[in-house]
Formats: sequence, C-alpha cells, structure tokens
Amino acid sequence: MSSGKTRRSRNTLALRLTLWYAGIFTVSSFVAFFLFYMLVTSVVRDRTDQDLMNQARRYIVLASTEGLEEAKRVAVVETHAAGVRKVFFRMLYADGVAFSSSNMSYWKDIGIHVNAIRQLVEGTDHVFETMNLSERRDEVRILYVMLGPNIILQIGEAVEGSSRFLEAFRRIFIVTMGFLIVLAAGIGWFMAKRAVSGVEAVTRTAREISAGTLGRRVPVNMRGDEIDQLAITFNEMLDRIEALIREMKEMSDNIAHDLKSPITRIRGAAEVTLSTSGSPEDFENMAASTIEECDRLLDTINTMLMISRTESGVDRPPQEKMKAAELVREACDLYEPAASDKGIVLTCEIEEAVDVAGDKRMIRRMVANLIDNAIKYTSSGGRVDVRLWREGSNDILLTVSDSGTGISPEDLPRIFDRFYRGDRSRSEAGLGLGLSLARAIARAHGGDITLTSIPDRGTTFTVTLPGMPIETA
Ligand code: ADP
Repeated sequence: MSSGKTRRSRNTLALRLTLWYAGIFTVSSFVAFFLFYMLVTSVVRDRTDQDLMNQARRYIVLASTEGLEEAKRVAVVETHAAGVRKVFFRMLYADGVAFSSSNMSYWKDIGIHVNAIRQLVEGTDHVFETMNLSERRDEVRILYVMLGPNIILQIGEAVEGSSRFLEAFRRIFIVTMGFLIVLAAGIGWFMAKRAVSGVEAVTRTAREISAGTLGRRVPVNMRGDEIDQLAITFNEMLDRIEALIREMKEMSDNIAHDLKSPITRIRGAAEVTLSTSGSPEDFENMAASTIEECDRLLDTINTMLMISRTESGVDRPPQEKMKAAELVREACDLYEPAASDKGIVLTCEIEEAVDVAGDKRMIRRMVANLIDNAIKYTSSGGRVDVRLWREGSNDILLTVSDSGTGISPEDLPRIFDRFYRGDRSRSEAGLGLGLSLARAIARAHGGDITLTSIPDRGTTFTVTLPGMPIETA
C-alpha cells in the first residue's frame, strides 16, 4: 500500500512540474556560467596577450635602436624585476638554438616550438601558444616574434592570477549552484503545489460527492484564473446534476403516486365485487371500470414515454409539410362544442398560408392540449381566443389566451414540469403532463412555448415555431 502511495506521489503533476522547473533552472544556470566563464577566460587571455605584445614591441625597438645587447640586458633586468616565476624570455637564432634567456630554472619544461619558428620564418608577424605545465596548475601564454633579422624572441607569462580567479569563481559557482538548485526545487514545489491546489480541491470535492454528499461545492477564489474557471464549471455541472436528481426524485414520487391511485381503485373495486358475491352485472361493471382505469393508466404511461422520447430526441419528428391553419381550425372545431357547453366563447383568428414542417400528430396534440387547458381553467361566461399568424419572414406564432383562473406567480416557474399541477387546478381532472408534453413537442420542432398569466384575469400561451418559406407560385 505504501509503495502504491509512493508511486502516486512520484507521478503527481506537482512533482513533475518541480523537476521541470529545477531542471530548466539548472541547465540555464550552467549555460550562463559556461558563457560567463568563456568570456572571463578570453578577456584574461587577451589582457595577457596584450602585455606580451607590448613587452615584445619594446624589445624590438630597443634591439633596433640600441642594439641586441642592450635589448638582452633590459629583458633580463625586467624579467627579474617582474619575478622569475612570472615571466621569462629566450632569444633564439632562426634555426631554433637559444643564445640568451632569463633565469629558466622554473621554466625548464618549456621547450621551443618548431612550428612557431617555421611560421615566423615564413613571414608570420607573431605566433601565440598556450601551455599547461603538468606539475603546475597555471597556464602559460607564450609569444614568438622576430626581434631582428634571424633573431627570434620567445617570451612567456604565467596566467597565474587569472587561473586562481577562475578557480575561485568555479568553486563559488558550484557551492552557489548547489544552494540555488535546492532553493529552486523548493520554490518550484511550492509554486506547483499552489497551481495544482485548485485541481486537488476539485478532486477532493468529486471524491466527497461520490461518497454521497452531493451538496458540496468547490471553493472559488475569484481570481478568474483557469482553476477558478474549472471550479465554476464544475460547480455549475453539480448544480445541474443536483437539480436533475431532485427532478427525477420528484417525478418518480409523482409517478408512484399517480399510478398508485388507479391501481388501488381497481383493486378496491375487484375486492368489493368479490366479497359481496355480486351478480354477473356487478362483474360486468367491475370489468368496465377496470378497463377504463387501465386506459387512463396506459394514457399516462404513453404520455410519459412520449415526453421522454421527444425530449431525448429519440423520436425525431418527421419533416412532413402541413398547413398549420388547417390544423388549428380543426382543433378549434373539435373544442367548440365543449366550450359552448361550458358557456365559453371560443374564437379562432387564423392567417392562411402558414406552413410548418414536422409531425402532424404531435403538433395537433400540442394545440389540443393548450385549447383543452384554456377551456378547463376558464369558467362559464369567459372566453378563449386562438390566434395563428406569421411573424417576420419565418416565425409562426400561435397564441391561446383565456380569461380563466390564471396561474399564481409561485406556480409559474414549475408549470412545465412533469406531473406538476397548480394549486388552482386541484378541482379539475388532469395528470399534470399536458404542458410538459406541449413544450417537448414545440422544442422538438425547433420552437418553444412561453406564457404570461395574471391570476383571476387569464393566461396566454405563445407557441413559436419555425415556419416554412412562403411559396410564390
Ligand atoms: P393538467 O392540466 O393535467 O393539470 P398540464 O400540464 O396541462 O396539466 O398543466 C399543468 C398545470 O398548469 C395545471 O395543473 C394548471 O395549474 C396550470 N395551467 C395550465 N394551463 C392553464 C391555463 N390555461 N390557465 C390556468 N392554469 C393553467
């Protein structure tokens, strides 16, 4: 188990970010150090070269003006003054044989470079050479120049001070780098942990939710960064899931309740008939009422299925072209007797030549549901007005207005929920599925249903559907 934990922590994003951070820091520091080291080395070398050149030039001038002996004397004095371990010189014939030099006891390992002499004889102005003496750490820079005709000057200088400086620089760099790498890894770890802490919060919340606390939310820091966006999106998703679960629970409660009542009634009727050992007529009545209840049950179940299938898009409405005017007129004609029986005036104002594409059966059912509700929730002496017209170039609008009970503001937000029945409608028969089915149908056809309602004054449902272009024939 502990090995699993170790493996997990080895694979964390924070650790990987830290390693990347420390790695990039180390590599770039080494590159910077290397470039700086090269620069310092070349500056030091240039300065030594310049020194050697100046010295050589002076001896050349001395040899030509005061003679070779004078140049030799000055060179001996000067190298002695500078320190026999610091500088040296040799004077050679063109064949490489030395005829004069400073005290060479310290420099005895320094030979004469035949190649350098050849280059000078062939006309090169001067030749530089670097030597590393094995028993000493210092580097030696050597210059060959023509001191006079057939006379060559070999002059050298230890780059001792600079070597020591570079050595110290190297040592300081290694110590500082060691410290900085540890510091960089620490800072990297801190930054990476901070960066992924939001992701960890999301993971923690997800874990708590899967353990059963659906009410938990990820804390949002309000910094507006990516982690905040993730937290906000995650919380929104949780809100939606929670609402969905609540809806599903309510719906299953409602389904259970709505199915329970007719089944209880069927069972009650059967029990009464059996226990009273009734006549064949009683049995016939029981069978008839059972069929009626079953039909109602089937109707509820079918409507629920239809809503689910329409909402989920399983039942894509076929795109059959239909004359909306005809369809609405048929519905008005169908409900006219019911309206006049109840003492309600039903008017239909229909604009002709309004075509829609979709499922005729479904649209008919949607229109019927709206008119049926309008008549159901309007009392005698009231009116129901149905209007159909084309708005703009494409939209088709259908309004069903009534002067009925209206819908209370508390009921309004839930009026399209499945099985939801308003407080004012308890006295009327119904399942609470009509409006959800109507809206599911409108949406499946690319439209929607909205409503405005004033309690005790009436309600207007407005259906918007995408119409078909007007045919110009
Ligand atoms: P049902 O009519 O079977 O109760 P619906 O889904 O058709 O179910 O309607 C849901 C609820 O909306 C109704 O219970 C009622 O409270 C309210 N409602 C619908 N249409 C109207 C209307 N025209 N006037 C007043 N209330 C309405």
